[in-house]
Amino acid sequence: MSRQRKARVPRIGFVSLGCPKALVDSERILTQLRAEGYAVSPTYEGADLVVVNTCGFIDAAVEESLGAIGEALDRNGRVVVTGCLGARREAILERHPKVLGITGPQAYQEVMGIVHEHVPKPHDPFMDLVPPQGVRLTPRHYAYLKISEGCNHRCSFCIIPSLRGDLVSRPIAEVMDEAGRLVRAGVKELLVVSQDTSAYGADLRYRLELWNGQPLKARFLDLARALGGLGAWVRLHYVYPYPHVDEVVPLMAEGRVLPYLDIPFQHASPRILKLMRRPAHAEDTLARIRRWREICPQLTLRSTFIVGFPSETDADFETLLDWLEAAQLDRVGCFTYSPVAGAAANDLPDPVPADVAAERHARFMEAAARISTAKLAAKIGTHLRVLVDTVGPDGAVARSPGDAPEIDGVVRIARPGPCQPGDFLDVTITGADAYDLTASPAAAA
Ligand code: SF4
Repeated sequence: MSRQRKARVPRIGFVSLGCPKALVDSERILTQLRAEGYAVSPTYEGADLVVVNTCGFIDAAVEESLGAIGEALDRNGRVVVTGCLGARREAILERHPKVLGITGPQAYQEVMGIVHEHVPKPHDPFMDLVPPQGVRLTPRHYAYLKISEGCNHRCSFCIIPSLRGDLVSRPIAEVMDEAGRLVRAGVKELLVVSQDTSAYGADLRYRLELWNGQPLKARFLDLARALGGLGAWVRLHYVYPYPHVDEVVPLMAEGRVLPYLDIPFQHASPRILKLMRRPAHAEDTLARIRRWREICPQLTLRSTFIVGFPSETDADFETLLDWLEAAQLDRVGCFTYSPVAGAAANDLPDPVPADVAAERHARFMEAAARISTAKLAAKIGTHLRVLVDTVGPDGAVARSPGDAPEIDGVVRIARPGPCQPGDFLDVTITGADAYDLTASPAAAA
């Protein structure tokens, strides 16, 4: 490369907060920056400008985002804010009037516009070659695949629809193109994310498209089947228990997509679910879970719940505990309710005192841990195929089909033999605790 071409490359710092969906937004902006010849600075001090991709989902996330903006301003001084919190301009400007610009979520072009204004785009077509799969923030062997934006529901505790708008699905050929590029670039696991994965394509009226000569409809079942044909693990997040989800479970039983469903049930008391305005709240979820497990006994079910929602009584909470006991969910997260500015639930009467909510949270997590411990203990002696995430002096850390990265457990293999991140290993499970498994390579066990 000539001296001239090595002339100073403008550098952009990037702070990515929030959920996997926000991570996908960050990856798109980073890909665009790299495509235009900007370098990404690993430090605030080395950057010409810093982009902060924020989260505004709950009050704690708002605080974290405002703190991150403050830190970037202190250490760099030139800051662009994007992401969910960007939809609340006044809240940002009140604390940080000196930011250069603010955009809402998915506003890639707007972010780039502000960047261009303050740090002109370099003009060297040779300077940067972006890999065809884009720039990713996750390890090379797994990637999040965002299939839609926004949400048509109006859960009373949530402000995402007012931040991100109604459901807008990506055309199925575009999603498949991206997924194919990722797999060709070495991705072994695709994590399908959106606000409501089971609603995919409803806004497109399930439009039929041709992809690689194959007719595909923009709907959940076709997408899951087609993704399952790419040769990578496919994990489905944020699915709601609608009847049509039943159709995808046979694909899991066949091994085409991972036998894993991440379904945010949030509660089990019909009264609370109604107050929460949850999608599919009238479904008999226990019957549905029973049916799925009949079709696919190895299914792992993950979910999240909220306890201490306004007016939740002891009886509502006991209904939830009984439901959890009956549902025997594999992986469970639980939050105590916290109001989000602008959410409809803030107007509900009868807040639950903080100590009562905390006690319910502890009881719920205790029950969930007991179920998880028993379920994982039952895996001892079984054989599983795992995907290696890291390899170090203490062995390998891998994940089974039942473990999503970052939110679920892991499988530790003390003596895995030669392997590297992204390898699949066949192992025998030798031990278990409340959340994680230990294993030996299958042949050596
Ligand atoms: S389904 Fe409910 S909680 Fe999820 S994004 Fe939509 S409105 Fe929010």
